Amino acid sequence: MKKDWPEIVYGVGCTWWESISKVAQTPTGLPICPHCASVLMQVPNIDSWWKGIDKRVGTDQPKNFHQMVEWQRGKCFKNMATAWEEYRKVTGETKCARCNGCGSIADSEQGEPWTYWAELPRGSNAAVVLGVVKPIPCPVCDGSGVKL
Ligand SMILES: [Zn+2]
Ligand SMILES: [Zn+2]
Repeated sequence: MKKDWPEIVYGVGCTWWESISKVAQTPTGLPICPHCASVLMQVPNIDSWWKGIDKRVGTDQPKNFHQMVEWQRGKCFKNMATAWEEYRKVTGETKCARCNGCGSIADSEQGEPWTYWAELPRGSNAAVVLGVVKPIPCPVCDGSGVKL
């Protein structure tokens, strides 16, 4: 049995994350996701992993992001949106329509779901980069992303 190393790895092209002891390897020894063979990135330990996750709460991710990520450990989805869909199927939650389930809306005139701004391609997102538009907690679901 392999020793459980402290390092945590996560997919670049998928949402899989796990202890580094669970990776698959290419013939040349490159660590990859055992499900989809995505290249992996690494953080030194579980604390820095959760720090990175929790930083996203209240911007492009809702309050229960931590729980969702905990649930999807070892599961490979092609992106966060798909992971959320599956998580909501399991938990029976319905996403809040006002914020599109991300828990935040823009402080712009229209107050679009923050996902709209977060997904703008680099180059078109000057308003976000410059802080002209900022995420605020969704007033309908109080930042939970869940339809009440
Ligand atoms: Zn994967
Ligand atoms: Zn909402």
